[in-house]
Amino acid sequence: TPSVESAVLESVPRGFLAHDWQPAAGGRTFEVRNPATEEVIATVADCGAQDALKALDAAAAAADEWALTSPRDRAAVLHRLTDALIEHRERLARIITLEIGKTITEARGEVDYAAAYFRWYAEEAVRPHARSTPSPDGRSHIVTVAEPVGPCLLITPWNVPLAMAARKAAAALAAGCTAVLKPAELTPLSSLVLGKLAREAGAPAGVLTVITSSDAAAVTSALLADPRLRKLSFTGSTPVGRLLLQQSGARVLRTSMELGGNAPFLVFDDADLDLAVREAVIAKMRLGGQSCVGANRFLVQEGIADAFAAALAERMAAIRVGAPDREDTELGPLADHRAVDKVRRLVEDAVARGAVVIGQADIPDGPGHYAAPTVLDHVPADAAIMHEEVFGPVAAIHRFSTETEAIEVANNTEHGLASYVMTSHIDRARRVAARLQAGMVGINRGLVSEVAAPFGGIKQSGLGREGGPEGLHEYQQLKYLSLPGF
Ligand code: ADP
Repeated sequence: TPSVESAVLESVPRGFLAHDWQPAAGGRTFEVRNPATEEVIATVADCGAQDALKALDAAAAAADEWALTSPRDRAAVLHRLTDALIEHRERLARIITLEIGKTITEARGEVDYAAAYFRWYAEEAVRPHARSTPSPDGRSHIVTVAEPVGPCLLITPWNVPLAMAARKAAAALAAGCTAVLKPAELTPLSSLVLGKLAREAGAPAGVLTVITSSDAAAVTSALLADPRLRKLSFTGSTPVGRLLLQQSGARVLRTSMELGGNAPFLVFDDADLDLAVREAVIAKMRLGGQSCVGANRFLVQEGIADAFAAALAERMAAIRVGAPDREDTELGPLADHRAVDKVRRLVEDAVARGAVVIGQADIPDGPGHYAAPTVLDHVPADAAIMHEEVFGPVAAIHRFSTETEAIEVANNTEHGLASYVMTSHIDRARRVAARLQAGMVGINRGLVSEVAAPFGGIKQSGLGREGGPEGLHEYQQLKYLSLPGF
C-alpha cells in the first residue's frame, strides 16, 4: 500500500555520505523507479567526480585512525551494525523490493544474508592471520603482519544490492580499511540506509562513505586516478570488469573482481530425480534468475532427461508471478526492460534453432518488467543462450550422453564462476568437480552462497574471493619483518 511505501522511503537519507550527508554538486539528482510499476519512487543525489573525491577525502582522513582501532572495537561496530540490520529487517526488505522488484520473502532473506556478513566479519576481525617462524637456516626469524590496504572503492551491482554491499564493506571494515561504496544506479536506496546505519552503529565519519551516481564511469575514473585510493572491489559484468582492470593497471591498484558467470548444472543418469529438480529450481530461480551463480545451462544425461525435463517444466510453469510485495508471490519483475528484452531474444533464438518450449508460467498484464518462467528442452549447442547469461527465469536443457562430453560442454565458456553436479556416486562427483573449470561447485546442492565460504570465480569470472577468511585477506597487505635468529 502507498502508506507503507512512503513511510519506508522517507527513512532513506537525502544526499550522499562523505564526512556527512550532503547534496551533490549543483543539487543534481536522478530518479529511482520501481520495476513492478515503472513509477518513480525516489530521487537521489547524482554525484559527479567532485562529489566522489569528497567521499574519498573523508575515507582518506579516517583511514589511519580506523586502521589503528583495536580489532575488538572494530568488531563491536560490526556487531552493532548486524543488530541494526536485523532490527530494521522489514523496512530494508521493503526498500529492496521497491528498488529491484525481488519478492518480499527473498528481500527479507537478503537482509539476513547481509547481516550474516557483518556478523561473520565481526567475528573474523579478531582472528590474526600472521605467522612467526625461523628461517630454514636459523639465521633470521620471519614475522608477518597483515595490515589494512587503505581506502577502498566498493562497486556493487543491482541484483543483490544490500548483501553485496555488506559482503564488501564488512570485510573491508573488519580489516581496518575505510571505504567508498558506490551502489548500482538502479538500486541506491538500500546502500544509503546501510551508510546511515553504519554511522549509527558507531562507525566514525569517513569509515563507510556512500556515493550515488547515474554516471558510474565518471565517478569511478576520478577515484581510480587518485593515489589515495588503494583498492577496488567490483561486482558486475565482465566487460565493465575488464575496463576497470585496465584503469586499475595504471596505478597497479589491488583489485577483487566478481564478474559474470554462465553456470552449468549437470544432471547425471544416476542422480536422485526429486533432489535434482528441487535444487535445479533453487539454482535457477534465486533472484528471479538474475544471479551470477544462477544455473544458465542445464546439461542433462539422456537416460534421465525426459523425466527431469517434465518435472522441471511442471514446477517452473506453476511459479506465481506478480507484485513482489505480496506475500504469496514467488517471482516479481526483472530489473528493467532491457532484462526482459534479453530474455525474449534468447528464447526466440533458441526456438529458431530447434529448442522446444515445454513449460511456461503466466505473467501479469499491465506495467512492470515481467518475464515468464520458461523451460526450453532440446536446446542445441549453438543457441545463444548456451553462451550468454540469460539473467532471467529461463531454464535451457541441453542433452548429453557421456561424462566427457558433459564436461567439455560445461567448460566451453570464458566464464568459470559456479557449477552444479547432481549425481548419487561419490566417485563421479569428485571426478567431475575436479575437471569443472569453476571457482565453486555445488554437489547435489543448487545454492553455493554462504558467508563463511570463499565466493569467486576463475577464468573471466574474476579475481580474488569474497566471504570467509579469504575475503578478509583481500583487504590486507602483508608486511614481512626480518628479525635476527635465536
Ligand atoms: P550489470 O550488467 O549487472 O548492470 P554492470 O557491470 O553494468 O552490471 O554494473 C555493475 C556496477 O558497475 C554498477 O554499480 C554500475 O554502476 C557500475 N558500472 C557500470 N559501468 C561502469 C563503468 N564504465 N565504470 C565504472 N563502473 C561502472
